[in-house]
Amino acid sequence: MMINSAELTFISRSVNERFARMSVAAFATQLDPTVEELAEIKTAVSEAVTNCIVHAYGSDLGTIKMKMQLFDSNVLRITVRDFGRGIDDVEKAMEPCFSTGADDRAGMGFTIMETFMDSIEVQSEVGKGTRITMTKKLK
Ligand code: ATP
Ligand code: MG
Repeated sequence: MMINSAELTFISRSVNERFARMSVAAFATQLDPTVEELAEIKTAVSEAVTNCIVHAYGSDLGTIKMKMQLFDSNVLRITVRDFGRGIDDVEKAMEPCFSTGADDRAGMGFTIMETFMDSIEVQSEVGKGTRITMTKKLK
């Protein structure tokens, strides 16, 4: 059963990566997370939002939506959505070290999200956008 829900809409300015990180931390306080859990959630969100800013929209500005939901038994679900370029091969994109970005991109974003969250689901359509759904059960 869903207990609480909040949604944010912001544009793909790089300063909003920090905004999203702080916002998810604020939402998660009701779960009384450990310092480690909080750091993991913030890092996963940061990777997902950065991908929207860098890959989905590139030098354009577009809309990013982040939905935060709390379910029974301390389960947190975060959905990060963009309406940008999309990913043609999701399986390949999720492989460690795969990147279509510049040299400063390690291709580790999805791997980090997978490591820090219990599950991650990627839905994408080329030209339409991408939706990342991540869940984590807090102790
Ligand atoms: P890093 O996250 O280490 O800086 P990266 O962003 O390239 O590097 P991932 O976050 O794992 O690595 O993403 C892998 C690839 O998936 C990206 O290089 C990009 O091609 C694609 N991708 C990821 N998110 C999106 C998105 N929201 N829209 C379009 N393409 C994306
Ligand atoms: Mg990335």
